[in-house]
Amino acid sequence: MIGRSNVGKSSLINALVRRSVARTSGAPGKTRLANIYRVARGSSSPFYLVDLPGYGYARGGSDDFARISEDYLRSRRGQAVLLLVDSRHPGLQSDLEAWRWLKTTVAASALVATKIDKLARGERIRAMRELESVLEHSVLPVSAVTGEGLDELWNLIDSLANNPLRHRRPAATAPPSHPRKKAPLPLKK
Ligand code: GDP
Repeated sequence: MIGRSNVGKSSLINALVRRSVARTSGAPGKTRLANIYRVARGSSSPFYLVDLPGYGYARGGSDDFARISEDYLRSRRGQAVLLLVDSRHPGLQSDLEAWRWLKTTVAASALVATKIDKLARGERIRAMRELESVLEHSVLPVSAVTGEGLDELWNLIDSLANNPLRHRRPAATAPPSHPRKKAPLPLKK
């Protein structure tokens, strides 16, 4: 799992496993380490969930995401990655860059929009549409507070962990799941 600092990664991990294993905080840039959890769930095969340092806050002249997360992901190209984005801030440059980078670097990746409970119905529809349009991929809305989307997220994680190739897209050839409107053809005079 990767995402900007404060995107809600620790809260989501705690909500997924229904216990407080990951430290949460309102202070951005707090998580400096990669945390690794062995997840054993029901009869499914156990897998390792790796909580990589957030990006977007470069403190002390070094960017944790650039240093730790990129090295980690590069050395394990076969792994699947979940990129978390904040549903309230669609289209942030750092998220777009992370997504573009992931698509060319890791075997399989998927997108999750956090804190969806913070948006009213209309805002939520607009935000999800914008997210899927700029990222050119489907995005799963979730909330660590209300539990919305967590069952779907477990299904996505199971599928990524057990069958990552299903989530692999050939570089630059897959059509966007939400194509933008085509520009009108110029009128002939
Ligand atoms: P991290 O830095 O990505 O690990 O982010 P945290 O999990 O520490 O969350 C950052 C802040 O967002 C904390 O104040 C959380 O309580 C809050 N937060 C996280 N997830 C949610 C969510 O789904 N809904 C709401 N309303 N707040 C959330």
